[in-house]
Amino acid sequence: KVAVVTGSNKGIGFAIVEQLCKQLGSSWAVYVTSRDEARGADALSQLKQRGVEPRFHQLDIDSQESVDRLAAYLKGTYGGLDILVNNAAIAYKGDSTAPFAEQAEVTIATNFWNTLRVCDALFPLLKPHARVVHLCSSVSDMALNKASPELQKKLTQPMSLDEVKQLMSDFVARAKAGTVQEAGWPQTAYGVSKVGVRLMTYAQARDVKGDDIVINCCCPGYVDTDMTSHKGPKTIYEGADTPVYLATLPPGIKEPIGEHLYERKVVPWAVKPGFTIA
Ligand code: NDP
Repeated sequence: KVAVVTGSNKGIGFAIVEQLCKQLGSSWAVYVTSRDEARGADALSQLKQRGVEPRFHQLDIDSQESVDRLAAYLKGTYGGLDILVNNAAIAYKGDSTAPFAEQAEVTIATNFWNTLRVCDALFPLLKPHARVVHLCSSVSDMALNKASPELQKKLTQPMSLDEVKQLMSDFVARAKAGTVQEAGWPQTAYGVSKVGVRLMTYAQARDVKGDDIVINCCCPGYVDTDMTSHKGPKTIYEGADTPVYLATLPPGIKEPIGEHLYERKVVPWAVKPGFTIA
């Protein structure tokens, strides 16, 4: 059996690989993936020092060719895929001077469109009882709660994947036109990218075909990584707990399916008066 974690050369993805290796044992092939071969090799040797023996495959989710190469490799070597953790993502720093239009386009591209690209390439390989986890974030709740009442109404109706794609395209178009706030969105590219991931999870879980394939997303909490400039209080291992829990849900479970979780608990997708981030 085989598990793949995107963007796992460092941070939460690194800890997810380590925990999966420990929990699944040596009959599983667990893959560290990295867009950069040298950073991947370095992670592999750090993981070996920590007593686990994952494998490595290059993966840049921004490159269709790289994603296709991984898909062909998995199909040829294992005839499919049992666990997919979509962890790779980016976030501009709060003090970035990059124009908002650029931040919106680049962030939505990697975090939403290119996570979807990985799904498009790898979902056809999912075996019975496969588990898929997307790293989302509680900032999606914050973005929902800061949206205009009209947009909140739209976001909380069940949406097809095509509607979610349209929503993400519209947000980027609005960012380029400088009219994000008129459209009811909060001015957060990262937050909206994770709204996209969350709505994508709900749509995919409704649509997925296959025997006992379970798709969920989660927030790892505020974690001490490069992404947070090491401000988060949680360790990468604490951050990996819920993603690993979801990636290893036993066969035949009835819940959680198509949910967003924080600390192993389902967080409903709803407007909450007086919302504050957990
Ligand atoms: P880091 O920035 O520490 O690590 C991100 C990882 O993703 C790195 O391995 C990075 O590779 C990789 N990556 C980025 N772009 C690509 C790409 N195009 N192709 C392949 N890999 C890529 O982030 P975290 O560990 O903090 O975050 C992991 C996940 O958790 C993300 O989805 C994030 O949004 C989410 N999250 C994190 C929170 C936190 O507090 N840290 C809170 C909520 C959610 P490279 O080294 O090459 O840059």
